[in-house]
Amino acid sequence: MHNKPKIGVSRCLLGDAVRYDGNNSANAIVIDKLGNLFELVPVCPEVEAGLPIPRPPVQLSNSIENPQLLGRDDPTIDITSLMQNYCNKRVPQLDQLSGFVFKSRSPSCGLNSTPVFINDKCVTEQDRGVFARTFTQHYPQLPVIEETELESAENYERFTAAVMLIARM
Ligand code: SF4
Repeated sequence: MHNKPKIGVSRCLLGDAVRYDGNNSANAIVIDKLGNLFELVPVCPEVEAGLPIPRPPVQLSNSIENPQLLGRDDPTIDITSLMQNYCNKRVPQLDQLSGFVFKSRSPSCGLNSTPVFINDKCVTEQDRGVFARTFTQHYPQLPVIEETELESAENYERFTAAVMLIARM
């Protein structure tokens, strides 16, 4: 197929070893099935923001509505401004995309599954990572999904149909 619609994908889902622990989160549905339908545009917000591989893990902290990105093991690590500045600059550059598949539970990429910690206690596991939050605020009309949701055939069909529809507009 020529001129496949472009969708963004959290880069670790494509098998690239960009996670904080130096591993990847390769996802066969994304690589094999979505890769046949769409041109996959990899984005790793943390690496693009300049963080190394491996790197200290971070977590959403201190607020559900306006969380900080602090070190999981060392809370003196604060990459909130670094990541927000990156997101504010990078997200508007992604206007060629017709959708996005996000890595679940990530403090950067999670869509509806990211834990938030306040005083060392997990207060929700349904928040949004900072990149996913900026992306969905900037492109509220675009179809978005987490890789775990693609395991449902119904969700998969709904997402791919929505991308096709947007791409044709
Ligand atoms: S979840 Fe997002 S920030 Fe984390 S490694 Fe994957 S692409 Fe990078």
